[in-house]
Amino acid sequence: ELDAKTLTADTLKAIEEKETALNAFVTVAEDAVPAEQLDLNNVLAGIPIAIKDNIITEGLRTTASSHILDNFVPVYESTVVQKLKEAQMTIIGKTNLDEFAMGGSTETSYFGTSKNPWDLTKIPGGSSGGSAAAVAGGEVVAALGSDTGGSIRQPASYTGIFGIKPTYGRVSRWGLIAFASSLDQIGVMTKRVKDAAQVLNVIAGPDDKDATTSQTKVPDYTQYLGQDIKGLRVAVPAEYMAEGINADVKAVVQSTIDMLAQNGAIIDTVNLPHTKYVLPTYYIIASSEASSNLQRFDGIRYGFRAPDVKSLEDVFVKTRSEGFGDEVKRRIMLGTFALSAGYYDAYFKKASQVRTMIKQDFDKIFAEHDVIVGPTAPTTAFGIGQQVSDPLTMYANDILTISANLAGIPAASVPAGLSEGMPVGLQVMANRFDEGSIFKVASFVEQQN
Ligand code: GLN
Repeated sequence: ELDAKTLTADTLKAIEEKETALNAFVTVAEDAVPAEQLDLNNVLAGIPIAIKDNIITEGLRTTASSHILDNFVPVYESTVVQKLKEAQMTIIGKTNLDEFAMGGSTETSYFGTSKNPWDLTKIPGGSSGGSAAAVAGGEVVAALGSDTGGSIRQPASYTGIFGIKPTYGRVSRWGLIAFASSLDQIGVMTKRVKDAAQVLNVIAGPDDKDATTSQTKVPDYTQYLGQDIKGLRVAVPAEYMAEGINADVKAVVQSTIDMLAQNGAIIDTVNLPHTKYVLPTYYIIASSEASSNLQRFDGIRYGFRAPDVKSLEDVFVKTRSEGFGDEVKRRIMLGTFALSAGYYDAYFKKASQVRTMIKQDFDKIFAEHDVIVGPTAPTTAFGIGQQVSDPLTMYANDILTISANLAGIPAASVPAGLSEGMPVGLQVMANRFDEGSIFKVASFVEQQN
């Protein structure tokens, strides 16, 4: 019989024991209690779940891992957390991220770096690195993340778990602290593919509070688990298996692709010719939107306010100077520049045009294929401190994940094997609103491993 109180207590104990090593959480909900009168028709009733700390939780501190919000306790609920509560899940705490989800390692967090449970000297990836470490380290079975350019998939890949970024518009972002609104999407990170399907069943769907959500019907994602893949049309972009992708990572991914072929999938090599433009396109668009979204953090209504201020301008300047970290400031400056009158056409407008071409690359492939597969990231997890002082090297890790956000398509990372003892993720992408095909492939790969 399900004893949710024991489960909650055991989870809190596991977190307490492991946090010194992992630093996966910014805030633990020490006084968490399971919902009353569990309805066992809710398959998730009484199960603890962790929430990335850029997702608003009513009454539970929400920081986006930034000094500027480190005292912020929201007075309203995000739609996703509202839905998890209605499904009677237990919100067990808030997980660490790169500040405002800007980064790929959690090293830009105001609360310190989370550690990779496979090797504590390595980063767990990011920006949803706390969620990844919490799941991979056995603190929780499920966590929510957010993905603007790979922040669910890349940490899932680095920590050997499953992570899915749904289609843009599939899950409400009401209560997600906005980074880049045309790219942001909330998704799920779990050890088991089936658990992610069940959580996505709960959080997907239209929301009056988020006009970008779609009315498209939400299927039961568990129906795709364990399905046959015979005849499945699989595209492998040559650009995703090219130079610059670690040879060992490619070998693990190739053996998974061979396994799919042996089981009746039809494999085709295809081209995504605009791949060489995705990094500059993404970093211009994401930074531009961030510079606009982050204007609201001014020290007036909520969050941190710098002490010893003498004028209103002082409040803004000092609060933002002291409240934001270096990476966030870098993005705000880059974005403000790209949007400014003299440069808008040359940068933001151009990037938007290239974005359309990137999206068309995908439309062409999905006219003839069910899924696209390849590596999630060019390497396995790297060492703490190894890349943090070199933004361009850090940005280059996103080369394989950001296209899905630019195109608005769903994409996931599923564990495919190991390279020198560290996990390698297989990325699976599908057409808009076809998360089902992703679950089909992911559950097949999971069964074989
Ligand atoms: N690493 C990417 C960035 O720094 C993606 C972040 C994300 O998806 N939130 O922008």
